[in-house]
Amino acid sequence: MNRSRSEELYRRALKVLPGGVNSPVRAFRSVGGTPVFMESGQGCEIKDVDGNTYIDFCNSWGPLISGHRHPDILRAVQRQLEKSMTLGIPTESEVELAEYILGKIKTSLPGIQKIRFVSSGTEAVMSAVRLARGFTRRNKIIKFEGCYHGHSDALLVKAGSGLVTAGIPDSSGVPEAMTSDIIVLPLDDENAVQEVFARQGDEIAAIILEPVPANNGLLIQREEYLQFLRKITRENGALLIFDEVINGFRLAFGGAAEYLRIEPDLITYGKIIGGGLPVGAFAGRNDIFALLAPDGPVYQAGTLSGNPVAMAAGLAQLKLLDDALYTNLENKREKLQSAFNQKGFAFNMTGIGSIFWFYQGQTPPRRPDLIDRESMKTYARMFHFCLDRGIYLAPSGYEVGFLSAAMEDSHLQRFLDTVCEFFEKEVANGK
Ligand SMILES: *Cc1c(COP(=O)(O)O)cnc(C)c1O
Repeated sequence: MNRSRSEELYRRALKVLPGGVNSPVRAFRSVGGTPVFMESGQGCEIKDVDGNTYIDFCNSWGPLISGHRHPDILRAVQRQLEKSMTLGIPTESEVELAEYILGKIKTSLPGIQKIRFVSSGTEAVMSAVRLARGFTRRNKIIKFEGCYHGHSDALLVKAGSGLVTAGIPDSSGVPEAMTSDIIVLPLDDENAVQEVFARQGDEIAAIILEPVPANNGLLIQREEYLQFLRKITRENGALLIFDEVINGFRLAFGGAAEYLRIEPDLITYGKIIGGGLPVGAFAGRNDIFALLAPDGPVYQAGTLSGNPVAMAAGLAQLKLLDDALYTNLENKREKLQSAFNQKGFAFNMTGIGSIFWFYQGQTPPRRPDLIDRESMKTYARMFHFCLDRGIYLAPSGYEVGFLSAAMEDSHLQRFLDTVCEFFEKEVANGK
């Protein structure tokens, strides 16, 4: 496959963009090689600047559940462009999107009554945490190793050593003071949570987690564990925040909360909610949102929040999501997964809804430390094997894959055949 124009663009990019990219994982550092510069997408396929096409299993990291350039979304955006790109004043489009979302989740999540739109998942989580602290008048937040919540200072944190569980910054440039109120705990461990609540339960503002962690491999949790988190937060006057930036509108319209039938106090959204444009949101009960500016003392604002073009794209996207679509995607993923797992390779596929992930071993891990680091080398080889055969996976073995509704059985068969061919070659090479 000729990718000379990608190589040329990467050389230019390196001179003007740090690492040649605007978000680190795009730089291919964990799989090696030169990042591919893409030019266009249609349905489930993307085309690079050299004219090569690929079936897209990354889907812009999750937003494109209906594939690229769905005609309904394009039409909605075009119609809005005729009116305005931004007005910075209330518009009907944000009321419509809020009504649509809250109306659809009303029966499964009756406590989710208000929503505020922002421009990214990071912003949504950062604001939800601030609101939780303002509402409870407490400062400490429990988060889990293996969950990603965007790049805001306080949440770029890893577990401290020993018994002292206060988090330490996971990034240079984040002062310790920013993370000292974040307690980082291991996933899948009731005792760890219980001990913290026994010691300082009246200081905990909230527990935040991805109900289905999908940013550090796919770490599907036990349902009893999630129920336990719901119960212990309620008993201690702390809030439960589900970061549904990936799960929301992906596992079900009402995200993991609806899929697992567990209602958190606050939910954050991103990715799919903007239909491919930059939108995030956080949502929750009326009494919690009564504290948010302008009604209350918790400040939060955004110049382009509720942007009418992004709202129109989001609404058109969400109107495409019905039960039939979710069932269809889940069936497709299950079929793919069982066909692959039947082969008995060293790698297996795990998944939920339309999210899938390859891992080495027999049991899907529930904690990040149970992921085999060495297996990432195999993933890197698989990534390039697929890439050279017109299949685009996320350029890191810690990232999950997404099916889109634009995929036909033939695309999934091609994917299955290609990964099987790869693992058969690995076996033949004694790897
Ligand atoms: C992607 C993601 C974020 C960050 O969203 P951005 O739009 O990239 O800022 C936060 N939380 C989760 C669970 C995510 O998957």
